[in-house]
Amino acid sequence: MIARIDHIGIAIQNINDALKFFEDALGMKLDHIASEEGGRTKVAFMPVGSSDVELVEPQDAESGLGKFLAKRGEGVHHICFEVDDINAALARLKEHGAQLIDETPRTNASGMQYAFIHPKSAHGVLIELYQRPNGK
Ligand code: ZN
Repeated sequence: MIARIDHIGIAIQNINDALKFFEDALGMKLDHIASEEGGRTKVAFMPVGSSDVELVEPQDAESGLGKFLAKRGEGVHHICFEVDDINAALARLKEHGAQLIDETPRTNASGMQYAFIHPKSAHGVLIELYQRPNGK
């Protein structure tokens, strides 16, 4: 059911400042920076093997991410697992009484389906599930 870790999302105040650590000091490689969620989030993609570290910078203080950053400060925001069947995964979670943020999957600009599981049901970890479009 769980194929691999797709990415780890790290909430940061400013991507350019954070790159001084992640790229210059730690030696990770920036792939690209993209605007996500209709411009509400700026994301820096840094591949590590077959996974990514994603630095996520809110562009809107009222977004979930903006509120997270104001309340908790910078740090690990979520872990994303790739699954082969996101609908089956969500059904299984519901069966086990887990609290879901997304009852049905959302689709992002690249056609990937995703859904978040509430941290209350996941021992304090915000978990994202991802299903890639067929053949990718
Ligand atoms: Zn994510």
